[in-house]
Amino acid sequence: MVSFKELGLVNTREMFAKAINGGYAIPAFNFNNMEQLQAIIQASAQTKSPVILQVSSGARKYANQTLLRYMAQGAVEYAKELGWEHPQICLHLDHGNTFELCKSCCDFGFSSVMIDGSSLPYEENIALTRQVVEYAHQFDVTVEAELGVLAGVEDEVQAEESHYTKPEEVIDFATRTGCDSLAISIGTSHGAYKFTPEQCTVDPETGRLVPPPLAFDVLDAIMEKLPGFPIVLHGSSSVPQEYVDIINKYGGKMPNAVGIPEDQLRKAAKSAVCKINIDSDSRLAFTAAVRKVLAEKPGEFDPRKYCGPAREEMVKLYTHKIVNVLGSDGKAL
Ligand SMILES: [Zn+2]
Repeated sequence: MVSFKELGLVNTREMFAKAINGGYAIPAFNFNNMEQLQAIIQASAQTKSPVILQVSSGARKYANQTLLRYMAQGAVEYAKELGWEHPQICLHLDHGNTFELCKSCCDFGFSSVMIDGSSLPYEENIALTRQVVEYAHQFDVTVEAELGVLAGVEDEVQAEESHYTKPEEVIDFATRTGCDSLAISIGTSHGAYKFTPEQCTVDPETGRLVPPPLAFDVLDAIMEKLPGFPIVLHGSSSVPQEYVDIINKYGGKMPNAVGIPEDQLRKAAKSAVCKINIDSDSRLAFTAAVRKVLAEKPGEFDPRKYCGPAREEMVKLYTHKIVNVLGSDGKAL
């Protein structure tokens, strides 16, 4: 057994309460490798933003769960070295799908877990979530649950169609499961292709695809049922078109990649939405930088020479999200 407290990590309870009261959201960034983690910590330390480091099942397979946990422990020390006196860093399991997996994360240093029973029938989702909550709370590990289905593909998470969260279910669900936060479906989705061109309109000035707006009426109805309860948005990358353009310019092929406009996320961050998940944008920043270096310097074969610029680009991206979209800068002094 390793408690997250021994690793210097924090759970989400206090950071969410402050975020709801303060009208901002905590960034939840996925990481799979050292450069991503360095970039997340540099951006968070520079801006003094609380941060959630997310580990998906894909990341666990790619990098190994134990190694990722030690990397998170290292991240706390690295943050202090960067001059962040009291780092508020949470290590979170993204899309846990079984009790055993969530238990293993609670047992080995994670400070927060998600149990995603959203694809199960309602009563089964409740039973599974309740089981995880009962276990996790013994160790002060916070639990995120999900109601409603997001469309899109990310690692092993995929669904053809989205189903908005039903506001009439949320009180019963939150009360019976005891979950600490709730991921909802209001039109965000996983991956870099969140909407088909048919679902979008075209901006006459730029010719870019403009996605349909998020269902803020559903969010409002949920907040009315559960005042002050922490709400989570998954699949909230914006798919910056400048990265897509660089990728396409230097040999990539990402036609019609489209994400959630940042003004929509800014609006959400001011509400009870207190955790916003961003993964694809970091992948795009990384890939754009790597493609550019390799295209311009075809003789380059030192990974540091292209992963370094990729890391710098990710620092810029994370800093932008923290300061200009989520408003979490200066909230963990
Ligand atoms: Zn997700």
